[in-house]
Amino acid sequence: MTGVRWAMAVSVRELEIVSYPAPVLRAKAKAVGEITGEVRAVAERMIELMREAEGVGLAAPQVGLSWRMFVCHVPPGEKRSVDDTPATATRTPLVCINPSLHDPTGELETYEEGCLSLPDIRGDVLRPPVITLRATGLDGKAFTMTGAGLLARCWQHEQDHLDGVLIIDKMTQIYRLKNKAAVRALEREAGL
Ligand code: ZN
Repeated sequence: MTGVRWAMAVSVRELEIVSYPAPVLRAKAKAVGEITGEVRAVAERMIELMREAEGVGLAAPQVGLSWRMFVCHVPPGEKRSVDDTPATATRTPLVCINPSLHDPTGELETYEEGCLSLPDIRGDVLRPPVITLRATGLDGKAFTMTGAGLLARCWQHEQDHLDGVLIIDKMTQIYRLKNKAAVRALEREAGL
């Protein structure tokens, strides 16, 4: 018999970025098992959505999937390079499956972050400036990479998503106050 096609459990083309307060954004995501064609297709779609939204990172819960996976692309720029030690940019988008972060280094730094799931909300978040990422790539191979600057920040922001943590939980007090009405507006829009 030919032409049998197993339906994918996920309608990849229909994946879109979900906004707060979608419950999936608050769940602890589950480890990805085998890297199937479906996982690869989801990663590709996530990269596409990240680009369309002009973001530098996107985590699977942000497209409604409670999976431990994120994509990120902090491209080389004026103050960023793939040749820095540690790296501050990557040449191509990075797909990180079952990622973990290790060895945070340096004094906490403040930087204004936004989130594709929190439209119109921005605020200062304190994070260590250097961190090591361990993850599995789409090729099924484990990799380790140390990053600094926006790249390190992006990994930490996306990793937080896998544990249901959002920037509104981590912002400095002044930004929590500044964004209170905007957060409430999103909740109200969702009927909360
Ligand atoms: Zn985010």
